[in-house]
Amino acid sequence: MKTLDKPVPPGGTIGIIGGGQLGRMMALAASRLGLNALIYSDLPDVPAFHVTPLQLIAPYDDRATLSALANVCHAVTFEFENIPAEAMAFLAERVPVRPNPAALATTQDRFAEKSFVAALGLKTAPFFEVSSAEQAREAFGKLTGEGILKTRRLGYDGKGQMRAVSADDAGVAFAALGGAPCILEGFVEFSFEASVVAARGADGCFAAYDPPENVHEHHILRRSTVPGRLTPAQVDEAKAIARTIADALEYVGVLAVELFVAKDGGLIVNEIAPRVHNSGHWTIEACACSQFEQHIRAVAGWPLGNPTRHADVVMENIIGDEVRAWESLARSGALHLYGKKEAKPGRKMGHVTRLAPRSR
Ligand code: AMP
Repeated sequence: MKTLDKPVPPGGTIGIIGGGQLGRMMALAASRLGLNALIYSDLPDVPAFHVTPLQLIAPYDDRATLSALANVCHAVTFEFENIPAEAMAFLAERVPVRPNPAALATTQDRFAEKSFVAALGLKTAPFFEVSSAEQAREAFGKLTGEGILKTRRLGYDGKGQMRAVSADDAGVAFAALGGAPCILEGFVEFSFEASVVAARGADGCFAAYDPPENVHEHHILRRSTVPGRLTPAQVDEAKAIARTIADALEYVGVLAVELFVAKDGGLIVNEIAPRVHNSGHWTIEACACSQFEQHIRAVAGWPLGNPTRHADVVMENIIGDEVRAWESLARSGALHLYGKKEAKPGRKMGHVTRLAPRSR
């Protein structure tokens, strides 16, 4: 595997796999640091193409294009986690890839991810590997309440998940998810949801942002609020959880850990996102160094920036048709639109960030 011996100097090129809004905001951050961003997407006309002239379009397993990417980039990162493992391995032989492909592989599979988190001594919902309808029914019997069946791979924003209220239900859900390998999780009656976005540098240094409280609607993030209802002790614990995970993965870059805050105050890890995260968009306006700049700094081997928050903040996603209200949204706060042409239901079209003086 190729490693980076010295920082990528200004004028160097960072390859970003994926061309959505996360890649777009990473490319903008790279540009501000005097670095070039090259976007590799499997689709034309993606949001990130609007902000950099350096573009590759090909399927993500196209060896010739992966070689071309490796040839022109000093380091490569990604903005989404469903890149084929073989493509990552191929790339990592040719160019430093950050975060490392093994960290990506762990987070691509919900069973591997939850097993990894549990082995670190961190709390998760009870979970069981499920490869047949019969196993789904059996696993449900081991839960104390309702369950949620999730495909091990390729799920996002609630896709590839079904609630189960009985053993028979769990069996039916397994068939409805296409018979793909799954995990059955116990349904957590949480008090609220939160996340922690943090960075680990190549030298092992660590910087965490204040954890937001998150509200989801129809499985899609609606709002992140900082500070939320987390107590100072929970804030510290959330940051410590992110550090434990980042260290164990020998992670370089920004990661997010999605959390359930239990009724007893405990923090339960739901999921690790090996990338910048929607619940960290508020850092653009409310912190000295945004999650996007922080990620590029880490990937390029630069010193990490200061994650301190200088304001209270609410970040709200703009989903589907809501984007039609862009004029009033623009009046209400810092507006980010991602340049997507079609406002399909459930599609993240932009976000708006509203600041207030820091209260605590
Ligand atoms: P995920 O795809 O795992 O991030 O789940 C998306 C959303 O579904 C979470 O943010 C929660 O709102 C809900 N959810 C997922 N897993 C559970 C669980 N075990 N218990 C309760 N809610 C869950």
